[in-house]
Amino acid sequence: MTSAGDGPDRRAELASRLDRVESRITAACAAAGRDRADLTLVVVTKTYPAADVGILAELGVRHVGEARHPEAAEKVTACADAGRAGLTWHFVGALQTNKAAAVADYADLVHSVDRLKLVTALNRGAERAGRTVQCLVQVNLDPDAARVGTGGRSGASDETLSAVVDAVSQAPSLSLRGVMAVAPIDADPAEAFGRLAAVATEVAAAHPGADLVSAGMSEDLEQAVAAGATHLRVGRAVLGERPPLG
Ligand SMILES: *Cc1c(COP(=O)(O)O)cnc(C)c1O
Repeated sequence: MTSAGDGPDRRAELASRLDRVESRITAACAAAGRDRADLTLVVVTKTYPAADVGILAELGVRHVGEARHPEAAEKVTACADAGRAGLTWHFVGALQTNKAAAVADYADLVHSVDRLKLVTALNRGAERAGRTVQCLVQVNLDPDAARVGTGGRSGASDETLSAVVDAVSQAPSLSLRGVMAVAPIDADPAEAFGRLAAVATEVAAAHPGADLVSAGMSEDLEQAVAAGATHLRVGRAVLGERPPLG
């Protein structure tokens, strides 16, 4: 955990980093002939304190991403207590089935839905909470299937993707909104996001309204914008380097 604090220095640092990311997004939109308004920046605050989320909210950030439960739940509660209503919470990390119901209690969108058991568990949790959880199906873009499940590069495979998509679309307390992916390590992100775009087009054709594409992180947001992403998940470029995840 960093102890970044919430003093004026941290505020200035986050403001300047956020400005730089915003400039990158604007430039990428201009290069791709896209409208900035069609992109949502999700600032991924995992490992950073709720105080940072508070500063980001004051700086105009409305979409916050978290990757681990219960860290995410604690921050949602802290921010609600601090009167930071109006934030939309995105759960973007690999999600264990036994934590799905808890996440369905507070996540507005879950980007990492990649298997049938998770669909069942999320739906049950959302139903119990009396909520509808928006879901993106995570697509595995790593051609080396042996790496699936290692290093967090998870996602539905070619074989299972359509079953997961259909299950989400039929789950009464879930809403299918689109697809998500992480570019594989060592891959060309432009090529990988191009493949995601092809999958996204198929999913949206079969499921009107499921047209969100979550792609792009600190290192590859430009390629994601060029490939048609609607949601960028940016952590380090806004918050600074994280200590290695345990
Ligand atoms: C942490 C994380 C991000 C943000 O990554 P950065 O490299 O910090 O921008 C995006 N997506 C997922 C799934 C993550 O876990």
